[in-house]
Amino acid sequence: MTKVKITNVRTAVVEANFDWTLVRVETDFGLTGLGEAFFAPGLTATIHSLGEFLKGKDPLQVEPLVRNMFAAASAAGGAGQVFHAVTGIETALWDILGQHLGAPLWKLWGGKYRDKVRIYADCHGGDALESLDALLQPRHPDWDQSHSQWNPSAGSHSERILEEYSPKAYADKAQRMAEQGFTILKFDLDVPNPYTVDGYNRSLGRQEIEYLAGLMAAVREAVGPKVELAADCHWKFAPDDSIHLAEALQPYRLLWLEDPIPPDNMDALKFVRDHSPVPILSGENLYGRQGFRQMIEQQAVAIVAPDLQKVGGLSEGLRIAELADLYYMPIAPHNISSPVGTLASVHACACMPNFLALEWHASEVPFWGEMLTEGSLIKNGSIEVPNRPGLGATLNEEVVRRYAKSGEPVFA
Ligand code: MG
Repeated sequence: MTKVKITNVRTAVVEANFDWTLVRVETDFGLTGLGEAFFAPGLTATIHSLGEFLKGKDPLQVEPLVRNMFAAASAAGGAGQVFHAVTGIETALWDILGQHLGAPLWKLWGGKYRDKVRIYADCHGGDALESLDALLQPRHPDWDQSHSQWNPSAGSHSERILEEYSPKAYADKAQRMAEQGFTILKFDLDVPNPYTVDGYNRSLGRQEIEYLAGLMAAVREAVGPKVELAADCHWKFAPDDSIHLAEALQPYRLLWLEDPIPPDNMDALKFVRDHSPVPILSGENLYGRQGFRQMIEQQAVAIVAPDLQKVGGLSEGLRIAELADLYYMPIAPHNISSPVGTLASVHACACMPNFLALEWHASEVPFWGEMLTEGSLIKNGSIEVPNRPGLGATLNEEVVRRYAKSGEPVFA
């Protein structure tokens, strides 16, 4: 075969609960690859810049191209949106290589440990529904009829908002999701409540801890002992306050407590992990093997959660899983992506021996099941690992256009 070339890298952004940023790599030999990158302000401009850098290069040289992209963008630092951009492109390159060789991605990585990947449902908080822009500001796309009024930066706690985050709302949501067949449910605990005193000092008073634990008590009562539960704190609390919260949550036997403290101090995280009666999970803000090295070597968490649309590539995710496996730590990847990124994560999760569960964050997005001709993917709380060549995702472009973010090109 004569040398093949990348001819273009294009993007489309779907305005869903987050900006679903799709990447298409085009070649001069009839194949195109599809990937997805975790949102960031200005992300598509970075992807297009890397696309110019890739033009004329051999798309089948996936790993060398990833190294070359990181080297070219090294002045932008070892974290952040360059990682998001490279990750989205890397998935699309694997998709091209897989199609070229007639093999699904998991075969390129040496085989799969399972035929189905267990999915856990992120239930957010009760009845509340969020669509957030790239700076995490609430927005209301046409498809979102909920008109939830919580603006995290405004800190307003109207009665309507407290209803959306009430124990009853949590219990109802848990029941709905368990009925769909999910066996792990995750809820937010950094939510509006009547007892927050200060939005900055990371403290949790006794009443607030009781209120938050009561939310999980309502969930446990609604779903019974057979469904696993987890809770996410989005880096909100101080170390000792987090431990007190974990102690209050202990009776509900959570699978994990996620990101109780800010993500960037491994000594503090290890302190929490060592004193928490609930297993601690973190990792969605870290980049690359080097970003995870200290967390894993110090065993600062019980469960490692890289985001496979952000971490530096699907194969980087596999290497991080391998490092975690040195300490017998399970992997539960973070995932807020569209069906495209989710399917990419499914291939990687199938190849991780220490895989626990993959997140699904789009239960309230009404067009989730329409974006791929392969349908909604999720059946009874799991996704079958595809056998189609490459990624195995066929976009319904009409749906992408219908929900496209204004001002962004659609693969143009
Ligand atoms: Mg999280």
